[in-house]
Formats: sequence, C-alpha cells, structure tokens
Amino acid sequence: MTPESPYIPRRKTYASNGKVDLKSFDREGLQEWFVSNGEKKFRGHQVFKWMWQRGVTDFDAMTNIPKSTRAWLNETATISWLESAGAQHSNDGTRKYLWECEDGSHIESVFIPDENHPGKARRTLCVSSQVGCAMACTFCLTGDLGLKRNLSPSEIANQVLQVSQDLGEDRPITNIVMMGMGEPLHNLDNLIHSIRTMLDDEGLNLSHRKITVSTVGLVPAMKKLQSALPVNIAVSLNASSEAQRLEVMPITKRYSMDDLLGTCRELPVHKSKRITFEYVMMAGFNDSMEDAARLIRLMRGIKSKINLIPYNENPARDIRRPSAKRVKDFQHYLVSRGVHCSVRTTRGKDISAACGQLGKAKQTATTLV
Ligand code: SF4
Repeated sequence: MTPESPYIPRRKTYASNGKVDLKSFDREGLQEWFVSNGEKKFRGHQVFKWMWQRGVTDFDAMTNIPKSTRAWLNETATISWLESAGAQHSNDGTRKYLWECEDGSHIESVFIPDENHPGKARRTLCVSSQVGCAMACTFCLTGDLGLKRNLSPSEIANQVLQVSQDLGEDRPITNIVMMGMGEPLHNLDNLIHSIRTMLDDEGLNLSHRKITVSTVGLVPAMKKLQSALPVNIAVSLNASSEAQRLEVMPITKRYSMDDLLGTCRELPVHKSKRITFEYVMMAGFNDSMEDAARLIRLMRGIKSKINLIPYNENPARDIRRPSAKRVKDFQHYLVSRGVHCSVRTTRGKDISAACGQLGKAKQTATTLV
C-alpha cells in the first residue's frame, strides 16, 4: 500500500427499524445515497450540515429541504442519537459520559480539560470505538468485557457532537483521542468514516493534527489507516522486550515487536509529527533502568515520543503503581539520552475515568449523577 493508492474503507449502511441511519455516512457517502435514490447530490450536502453542524435530528426542522423530500426522508431514514445514561464530574474538571446505544449497549467518553496547557487551552475528548474489546490486555479493565460489537460510524462521531453540545460553544473540544473502550483499528472502516465526519469542515470541523488514534499494534490496519487519513498514531507498547510484552498484551503473539516497530519505522509520518508510544508503568514489571535502556534501543530509527503512564491501581488487579520518584528517574534517564518523553498526569481518578479504567459502564450506571 502506498500513499498513491489510499485505502478505501468498505461502506456499510446501518439501519434502525428498517430505516437508514444517515449519520453513518460521511459527506461523500451521503451525497451518493441521495443520488442513488433519485435526489439531487446537494441535498445530501445540506442534510449533512444540518446533522453535524446544527445537531438537528428532525427532518422537519431542515427548512431548506423541500417538504416532499422531508416526507420521503421521514419514511425511509433516521438520524441516530445516543441516549445519555448519566455523567460523572471529577474534582479536576474531567467528565465521564455514559451513553446507551439503541441496542441497549453502554459506552463511555471522557472529557479532559486542560485550561492551563502551555500556549492554548486543550480540551480533549477520549472516544470509544467498540462495546468492550477483544484485545485482552491484562492490565486493562475494558479487556475483561471481551468484544460485544463494533460501534457504527455514527455512534463514534455522535460522542463528539453530543459532548460538544453539552459543553457549549464557548468551550469547544480541541483534541480527540481514540483511546476509550475498544481497539479502534479493530473497527477500521467505521473508524475512518467517523473521522472523515470529524475532519469535514461541513461536519465537526476538527484538524487532523488534533486527532490521535491509539492501537495495540494491528500492523496491517496501521498501514491502511495512514494511507487513508493523516491523523496521529499512538502505539500502546507497555514493554521493553518481546517476552515482557507477551505477558501483558496477547496481540504480541500475532504481531511481534519486531514487526510492529519495523512498521513504525516505515510509516509515512509527516515531518512535523512523531509516533507516540504509550508505556503503562507497572511497579516491578517494566519500570527498571534496564527497561529504560532497552526502550531507547527499541526507538532507534523511529520518529517517536514516549508517554509514560503510571499504572492506575484498582481492586481488580494486583498491579502496583511505581513511586513518583521511580517514574521521574525513568523519565530523566530517557530524556537525558535524547528521547522525547513525557509523563501523563492521571485525570478523573475519582470517577474511574483514568486510563485503563473504562468498561464498567453498565455496572456503574446506577451510581452516576
Ligand atoms: S488497553 Fe485498549 S486494546 Fe487493550 S484491552 Fe484495554 S481497551 Fe482493549
């Protein structure tokens, strides 16, 4: 696959009660759908704007669409919406949103404001891509659920639209991280359609520089994603050797670290970008200075930055968080040897919204405020 032959995702039509969910198309797909039904292409464009820029869910509110077309749309199509099942507000400003999908599944999104970010306020939304997850990383609670199903493009993009509406126009979302429930690249086609809607200036109008897709390292899908969209990639690495990674990330059996890191070396990363490597630090497992030294060797030849994530302890796992001093020493070791490295601040811990803690949505639904 080369940049000259971009990956074209398969387009699926999602239906609800026999009606077509118009939000599961990107703009181009929606226009095609209108044309295939004998309508003008620009009507698809108009409806797309109503849905994503104005947040309209009622065809009769689309005043520039002829009455006859609205009547036909009411009969054949629907505009999906996630039911709010509650929200929790953390002391640090983080908000966890719980959504109920049409089939009764629950998913979560986490809003993480950083009004003091150097340069400009950063308001990040962590978005889910699946109900549950098949990857079974041993340190992650979402993995306990197993995979229930993929989210549709509309269920992914609706999280962004609906949180934006909740926050109001004066607090726009600036960054998207696909790091919620699920492995985004395990749902690649729907992910690409939803990100197209996020990037579309007639849609959610976000910049590709502000969208990051996290992956455990599904090698073929990483190549496809980069040929389709110029978004940032974050690799969830979490180990400094193959044997160590096999202990916590079963996906390593399918794609070795050599394969994964070799792919990272070859990805067409824009000159202003770096691949982020997430490294969940677990005390006594991967937090030694030998680990740090191995990490440096692994990063050779990759435009990388490492994001250290001190483990968020929870009663369901016998994994300890390293001391603050150990994390600092580890970071210093890397930075002093020329590696770009930051430590992720834990946010939303009091509402179980921190990294690796999502996935107890259904169980916690009754306790939400
Ligand atoms: S860390 Fe990500 S990929 Fe691994 S089980 Fe959790 S949600 Fe899935």
